[in-house]
Amino acid sequence: MEVDVGSIRYSVGASLKVELKERWGAITWGGEEVELLDPVTVKLTLTNTGELLLANGRLETSLLLTCSRCLERFPYALDAPFVIGYREVKKKKVEEPEDEDLEVRGFTGDRIDITEDVRDTLYLALPMKPLCRQDCLGLCPRCGKNLNEGPCTCEKEEPDPRLAVLRDLFKQE
Ligand SMILES: [Zn+2]
Ligand SMILES: [Zn+2]
Repeated sequence: MEVDVGSIRYSVGASLKVELKERWGAITWGGEEVELLDPVTVKLTLTNTGELLLANGRLETSLLLTCSRCLERFPYALDAPFVIGYREVKKKKVEEPEDEDLEVRGFTGDRIDITEDVRDTLYLALPMKPLCRQDCLGLCPRCGKNLNEGPCTCEKEEPDPRLAVLRDLFKQE
């Protein structure tokens, strides 16, 4: 994913709107293949601030995540801010970013490849514990039934007290 900044590179105050779209198919996340249902879309405004080119916008896509409670797959709409400063450098290394709140990358020439930054932003925006819905009931710990589909037939009783005694005996050993 590349942005052509040739038109604003030399004019302080100039800005440029871009929309990039790319199909990624799948990404690997937490050791799992995660399918992307929509193209990765990045809508940015790049502004030449004199010091750097400030990219400010959003990243959108949707992915097929696995619910951490019921283990069902569900479509997750991702919409994350994308804010990164690009500073022109001779080499691809940036020495010292002055603004600690802003991520700054180096670039050379008229074209900035933002693929890695898009990827990083996407990974950071993924939820640690995805939920198919806020009130997902999850699985019954005893029979494993998906409780979103209705109650299971498990007795809602405490485990047999005799078994509890046995368990305690094993614990002491
Ligand atoms: Zn769920
Ligand atoms: Zn059950």
